[in-house]
Amino acid sequence: MSENHSCIGCGADIQTENPKELGYAPPSSLEKEMVICQRCFRLKNYNEIQPVSLTDDDFLRILNGLGEQQGLIVKIVDIFDFNGSWLPGLHRFVGKNPVLLVANKADLLPKSVKPKKVINWIKREAKSLGLQPIDVILVSAHKGIGMSEVIDAIEMHRDGKDVFVVGSTNVGKSTFINRIIKQATGEGNIITTSHFPGTTLDMIEIPLDDGAAIYDTPGIINHHQMAHHIDSSELKYITPKKEIKPKVYQQNEGQTLFIGALARFDFVKGERSAFTIYAANDLPIHRTKLEKADSLYEEHKGELLAPPSKEHIHLLPELVRHEFAIKEGKTDVVISGLGWITVQHPNVVVAAHAPKGVEVFIRPSLI
Ligand code: GDP
Repeated sequence: MSENHSCIGCGADIQTENPKELGYAPPSSLEKEMVICQRCFRLKNYNEIQPVSLTDDDFLRILNGLGEQQGLIVKIVDIFDFNGSWLPGLHRFVGKNPVLLVANKADLLPKSVKPKKVINWIKREAKSLGLQPIDVILVSAHKGIGMSEVIDAIEMHRDGKDVFVVGSTNVGKSTFINRIIKQATGEGNIITTSHFPGTTLDMIEIPLDDGAAIYDTPGIINHHQMAHHIDSSELKYITPKKEIKPKVYQQNEGQTLFIGALARFDFVKGERSAFTIYAANDLPIHRTKLEKADSLYEEHKGELLAPPSKEHIHLLPELVRHEFAIKEGKTDVVISGLGWITVQHPNVVVAAHAPKGVEVFIRPSLI
């Protein structure tokens, strides 16, 4: 069998090993003269975008390429994992191109939270992270909320030029683009795929009426997320599907909260205080005394403290302790991909324990 096939749709090098990565085609397809990767195949035949992911180097190459294009950059982030899905370097690469920031999965936020407040928070965070978006829109691609608004904004800001959609994996980029395709083409139209002219950018093209196009770029994997440290069968326990119901705990100094066996939150020092956990509703929270926490974890992880279950607990890296002296109330302690704990009162010392490699940090409270 000859090596070095490239996809006749997007031009990616064909590989037959990993269906989640770029250029995957089933081994049987290599027997054909012209090979099309699974992603282009689905787009061509079902008008459906499939998520693919890239290594960091490939992604940098694509970002570099974006700076050389002219058009609107639509950057999608996951509001539940805002910082984890942020794509930190983007603003340095986009050149003069405007960036429309789309925060997806708005349906997960408690309904009592005003969208305007969330949008203002996003604007402040974006600014402190070095990005000045042309606009910020909150959507739920899954539920179809905010999609007309975002389509109008794209149309207005693209100014007749191309659109490049970027985002890390799992932000819902495919769901988002599939919604746009449906609205733009209706059912039944065949969408052509093409290699981005004159470059090696692995993008998929969705033609627009005026000759411009929307390009889907592959998502980058965020290695700091919890999702990479648990078995895929248990991902469903940490990924919220519905509106998050915040859980409030009144804690005394010296108490601790376990979130399954995935994380632990110690109240090290301070007056009696309220802490609010925002995480998938079904994740069990277990409260105990700080002095007992280490031994409880060793004896009961995978059982009383789960997920992960006994079968998969060995995949979880050891927990690492991150201590924070919090001066201001309403501060979130974020555990990337798992959720966050809002510290409601000022002047407390807390410690979050998370699997080695998972990012833990504080930010002004989102809600
Ligand atoms: P991609 O990797 O960025 O292309 O992401 P996908 O479109 O494959 O979506 C990743 C996951 O997020 C899937 O489980 C989707 O069902 C889910 N998802 C996508 N959009 C939304 C949304 O608006 N709300 C919620 N709650 N989940 C979403």
